[in-house]
Amino acid sequence: MKTLNIASIPGDGVGKEIMPEAIRVLEKVAQVHGGLQFKFEEFPYSCDYYLKHGAMMPEDGMDRLSQFDSVFLGAVGDASKVPDHISLWGLLLKIRQEFQQEINIRPAKLLKGINSKLADPKDFDIVVVRENSEGEYSSIGGRIFHDDNEIAIQNNVFSKRATKQAMNIAFDLASKRKGLVTSATKSNGIFHAMPFWDEIFEEISEKHPNIKSESKHIDALAAYFITHPHELDVVVGSNLFGDILSDVGAAIMGSIGVAPSANLNLNGKYPSMFEPVHGSAPDIVGKGIANPIGQIWTAKMLLEFNGEANIAEHLLKVIEAVTADGYQTPDLGGKYKMTEVTDEIIKRLGQ
Ligand code: ATP
Ligand code: MG
Repeated sequence: MKTLNIASIPGDGVGKEIMPEAIRVLEKVAQVHGGLQFKFEEFPYSCDYYLKHGAMMPEDGMDRLSQFDSVFLGAVGDASKVPDHISLWGLLLKIRQEFQQEINIRPAKLLKGINSKLADPKDFDIVVVRENSEGEYSSIGGRIFHDDNEIAIQNNVFSKRATKQAMNIAFDLASKRKGLVTSATKSNGIFHAMPFWDEIFEEISEKHPNIKSESKHIDALAAYFITHPHELDVVVGSNLFGDILSDVGAAIMGSIGVAPSANLNLNGKYPSMFEPVHGSAPDIVGKGIANPIGQIWTAKMLLEFNGEANIAEHLLKVIEAVTADGYQTPDLGGKYKMTEVTDEIIKRLGQ
């Protein structure tokens, strides 16, 4: 019997509502497939935890989390209680950084039965690989002078190691998909970092003669997501470009409530973390209408990156059969409640 030890952090807002739904689904997955079991331990790290204890997690929080195979997260942040920069840096970004989760994978695929905002989104299916640790999100820089003379300087940081790592993951994913990697660049405007990024992309492309590769400027590529989504497969981007493109992808998916993501640690020293793309959605908390699919699809990614690709694929097929038959929450234009969608997924897993 294989056991996956999972640290669950429901977090804030709808995170607390959708986490139990995804765990119900995973328990059913284990029951149906046999040979696999989950041990969940829940950690209450959240804005409420901060209000009680003055920190988003205790001193030994990271040590405790590091004992698990994976961290399964709901949503972090509730600006009505704790400023976002404190809650994000105290928990979400802290875990991403300290656990060296340098890659962020964000599939964007239109599930059957869901109405997208895009004119002809049928079979929309892209994966964004986002470099998750450096690039434009560096802390190097500062502000000088005052008043009308004030200047802010922000230095981007691109290391060969982390850039190669993101690109290698992209080519690896493409080899299991349609065999195309598109690199998001802006070497016509960003003179140092982006030509460096392009050179590395070329080098990695040459090592993968069986995979097609291309570079597109970020502005044109964002438009291309809308106009030619079917001509893309795996897209690799820097921290900022990857973030922007995955939100475009989530919009095409019909609702941010369905979009999954994985923060991968690749050196094996720490757990990876799996979290939906959306936030804590304070505007719909307590109404029972949060879409559970983002969290459940994220559970599918947790299975996939813990060596259970077949079980993961089965779960995604079941999720899609449920959306195809119209079991959808209001964010997708449906009339079903969160628990009804989950119940239907669980029912069909057993069939
Ligand atoms: P963050 O800053 O934490 O990334 P945010 O404040 O930008 O998040 P969300 O909390 O993701 O944004 O909410 C954006 C919108 O999407 C809100 O209208 C919210 O209700 C909706 N939303 C988010 N998650 C879900 C969900 N699971 N089901 C339905 N609607 C959702
Ligand atoms: Mg927010």
